[in-house]
Amino acid sequence: MTGIPTPFTADDYTARMERAAQAADGAGLAGVLVAPGPDLVWLTGYAPPAATERLTLLVLAAGRDPVLVVPTLEAPDAEKAVGAPALTLRDWTDGTDPYAATAPLLQASGRFGVSDNAWALHLLGLQKQLPGTSYVSLTEALPMLRAVKDAAELERLAAAGAAADEAYGEILEVAFAGRRESDVARDLAGLLRRSGHEQVDFTVVGSGPNGADPHHEAGERVIEHGDTVVLDFGGLKHGYGSDTSRTVHVGEPTAEEQRVHDIVRAAQQAACEAVRPGVACQEIDRVARAYITGAGYGDRFIHRTGHGIGVTTHEPPYMIEGEEQPLVPGMCFSVEPGIYLPGRFGVRIEDIVTVTGDGGRRLNRTPREMAVVD
Ligand code: ZN
Ligand code: ZN
Ligand code: ZN
Repeated sequence: MTGIPTPFTADDYTARMERAAQAADGAGLAGVLVAPGPDLVWLTGYAPPAATERLTLLVLAAGRDPVLVVPTLEAPDAEKAVGAPALTLRDWTDGTDPYAATAPLLQASGRFGVSDNAWALHLLGLQKQLPGTSYVSLTEALPMLRAVKDAAELERLAAAGAAADEAYGEILEVAFAGRRESDVARDLAGLLRRSGHEQVDFTVVGSGPNGADPHHEAGERVIEHGDTVVLDFGGLKHGYGSDTSRTVHVGEPTAEEQRVHDIVRAAQQAACEAVRPGVACQEIDRVARAYITGAGYGDRFIHRTGHGIGVTTHEPPYMIEGEEQPLVPGMCFSVEPGIYLPGRFGVRIEDIVTVTGDGGRRLNRTPREMAVVD
């Protein structure tokens, strides 16, 4: 499916800004400051050409109108891109102090949530203007701000998942044996673009022993007959992320390789079945981990079970021990247990799952059995 998704409306952006301002208020913050990046795109629809030394900053506070501070030379573009009429632009001109222009928009004291990718330069400039203020990471203060997706966002995430599935179906047809991991990774990237991704974020091809390193991307190793190969790939389509993993085998697997794969597949299935509203995030991790531990590989499952996904490919909520946040319908996250046998091979299976009214729904639909490739 490559259709144009339902556009976000002014009401969507206005509602998101209001939600952010209210959540900040509820968390005891004086407001939220958002620099160019995923948060700004999500809140306003505006992505400046690049984050630069010139200050661009969205200021949100409960009970006040949202204001976007922009350099005068970028104001016309911002005006066009901004999705909500409720948002006022305040421009500042080269040669004037942007922090002095921004300061009156903020309370002179209190704590503000700041988007994680704000430049230190800008934050220090503001702090100098307003010595009574303090700042905290927006992701830490309001981790669930972007976690619950609306219908138009879910439509995009489903389309991104379907596009990644299409790429997987086609990568099974390419030659593996005798080619470098980087060759297969390049094929994967091309397939992701062809299925509509405007941005490819990662194409992991972990063959043989490289598959035992979850951080391995793709290198110069030549894939051999008999290799287990971890594929993990994703990017952005219409601004929303895909991220899926399948583990394939070059030729017929050994009994042990098949057994390890079966364990991961059953663990992933059990964790997906545990998804429903009200269940704590850590419970999803526990279900997958309990299964793998019961099968004797607990110490070889060396990462959390999942992460949220949206306008970025890694974001809260995290499916990790200690995360007590209950699942809410509309949340989207990965379920990706794995087993890693150092020096030998690894297996990981990953789908994006969204929480529905009474359970969970996978956004990736490709078979999870270990595919045999050439
Ligand atoms: Zn093998
Ligand atoms: Zn992944
Ligand atoms: Zn992932």
